[in-house]
Amino acid sequence: MTTNIDNLVSELIRPELKTLKPYESARRLFSMANAGEVDTVWLNANENPSVPEISINPALYNRYPDFQPEPLIAAYAEYAGVETNQVLSTRGADESIELLIRTFCRADGTDSIVICPPTYGMYAISAETHGALIKKVPLTPEMQLDLPAVYQNLENTNIVFVCSPNNPTGNIINRNDFIALLDECKNKCLVVADEAYIEFCPEATMVDLLVTYPNLVITRTLSKAFGLAGLRCGFTLADPSVIDALKKVIAPYPVPAPVAQIATDALSTKGLSWMTKQVTHLNKLRDGFIAHAQQWQLVSHVYPSQTNFVLLKLNAKLDAAEVLNTFVEKGILLRNQSKQLMLENTLRVTIGNESQMTAVLNQFLQVEKTL
Ligand SMILES: *Cc1c(COP(=O)(O)O)cnc(C)c1O
Repeated sequence: MTTNIDNLVSELIRPELKTLKPYESARRLFSMANAGEVDTVWLNANENPSVPEISINPALYNRYPDFQPEPLIAAYAEYAGVETNQVLSTRGADESIELLIRTFCRADGTDSIVICPPTYGMYAISAETHGALIKKVPLTPEMQLDLPAVYQNLENTNIVFVCSPNNPTGNIINRNDFIALLDECKNKCLVVADEAYIEFCPEATMVDLLVTYPNLVITRTLSKAFGLAGLRCGFTLADPSVIDALKKVIAPYPVPAPVAQIATDALSTKGLSWMTKQVTHLNKLRDGFIAHAQQWQLVSHVYPSQTNFVLLKLNAKLDAAEVLNTFVEKGILLRNQSKQLMLENTLRVTIGNESQMTAVLNQFLQVEKTL
């Protein structure tokens, strides 16, 4: 039986998907069920260590939710400083990324996206599963845009993805470079600014550029600073004509009713003040962690970070996978980023709460002793 259906699947599946490796999400590498123990220190997915207070209002769960729940859209528009017709809510920012590609790139390999590695992995996965081409234009050694190289790759390109602050490096993309890119792409293609971590450095947002550049699209999420990764709620901010195009492709009821309720609460005055307090606290813990890491022999480079994570390049005497395993043995989960372009032998540490950071520091000191 199994063999027959295996054969059938392999006969019917789109040939280009046969060799595709699915995104190695933090949760696929270490599932909640497998790790089991309550005291596992989860520092591998850039989540917030705290959960906001949540109450689900009694609701008509027998009814379909609104296509785009008005209170949620109004709350996010107000928070982001845009009009409600510039906002689309989605199942996480990941769905925003996928929707953009499905809406603006043909699936027959004629249209491309440009990505600038090392960067977030889902742009490439979404393009590949859809059938769009991927042009990779590496960041400079300073982890900034290589503008001349990007410009050379704009033919048949419909979307350029820029992650700022960038995951997994943690730095902000220079605003002037980003504006130059928007100018170059005017009337040519969309430029997406992925602002998943913008709450950790709100002054770096590109949202004010939306009025001048209708080809700018911004993706946001409640998964990081807002502490709601399990909710699956994200947003796209763009010109109303771009939003309308995305609405042609998005599922009919994209945001489940309880998700909309919790997300709207998270964007209330109380919710926003919880979030900003978290950000202040986590930013302080991050700067403390960086100050320690800069003292260690085991680290050859600490990447500057404006986010809730820090990327470390390890001393060449150490192997990132082996170091990662010594953490796993202590129940501490970090993320190996060594497969990414230019990031050989690197580990990414999400900033957890104080006791989690103490556990991480102690384990790094153990590694330090082996040198
Ligand atoms: C976490 C992350 C996302 C995905 O966010 P979700 O809303 O949880 O889907 C998107 N972009 C970047 C850069 C991220 O780090």
